[in-house]
Amino acid sequence: MYSFQNVIGHNRVIKNLQNSIATNKISHAYIINSDDLISIENITQSFAKALMCEKRAIDSCENCVSCKSFEHKNNPDVIYIDSEDKKSIGIDQIREKLVYDINIKPYKNKYKIYIIKDADTMTEAGQNAILKTIEEPHDYAILILLSTDYKKFLPTILSRCILIDLKPIDINIMNKYIEDNYNKKIENVDIYSTYSEGNLSKLEEIINSKEFIEFRNELIEVTRMFLTLDIDNIIKIRKFFEENEKKYKDILNIIYIWYRDITIIKSERGTQYLINKDKIGELNYQSTELSYKFLNRIIDNIQFLRENINRNINLRLATHAMLLNVRE
Ligand SMILES: [Zn+2]
Repeated sequence: MYSFQNVIGHNRVIKNLQNSIATNKISHAYIINSDDLISIENITQSFAKALMCEKRAIDSCENCVSCKSFEHKNNPDVIYIDSEDKKSIGIDQIREKLVYDINIKPYKNKYKIYIIKDADTMTEAGQNAILKTIEEPHDYAILILLSTDYKKFLPTILSRCILIDLKPIDINIMNKYIEDNYNKKIENVDIYSTYSEGNLSKLEEIINSKEFIEFRNELIEVTRMFLTLDIDNIIKIRKFFEENEKKYKDILNIIYIWYRDITIIKSERGTQYLINKDKIGELNYQSTELSYKFLNRIIDNIQFLRENINRNINLRLATHAMLLNVRE
């Protein structure tokens, strides 16, 4: 059931949205941005539902006609637009479903809400078509644009929308979520909450498929080759990275946490701080083989790649450079 109180994390965002409802300062256009699609969905639906609720409070009531119809996606004043072909939203779709439709007043609600999924796939013509409705808004119309990469919007769109760029969910909230929802089925909660990096969608994906954990185990075997970085091993590591280029983010994340764990063992800070608790034998072994110098270098290099991965860097060259940089 959608409601602000059921959203996991994102307390500040929720508070701001509730404030805007309480003070009646609703904007006519929002962008909600994140690659955590579950969180986007939870927040958007809760916000729209609260706006539509007949009780006019800062959260939905669940009892009124509007709340009930909303839950079944039957509210005629909430219009969903998405990229039907999963590639882009073109101008024809925007015209038909939004530009013309927006002139028709709401059927029975105070607002008419347009939720545009994959809004960052809108063509430039599509975005320009939307711009006019944002510049000269109807009192009752609210646009909520959902995106994973808000930088794809035209500057003119960005400057006229309230941008809500979701931050990662706090790790303690993630831990509690796992305990509440996967009660006892999960032994090492830390592994899942850490690898998901505050992203609820990622967490569900990792927990519900064996693939991620299998990939992690495979990658941890690859780290053995980092102990002897000769040409042979460099070629093998590069090959592994290239074959799994689509999972490059995961690779960096797993390796980063791996060497962070080794540093903890080496500095004898106590095993309770480890994430990869199930691999303690291997961690111990590698920690005796690796120097602090190497560990610092690899952590710095991985961190650099993590920060730059979204900047269109050439991953193959970057991997090679990283391997040469960390070699002793
Ligand atoms: Zn209600």
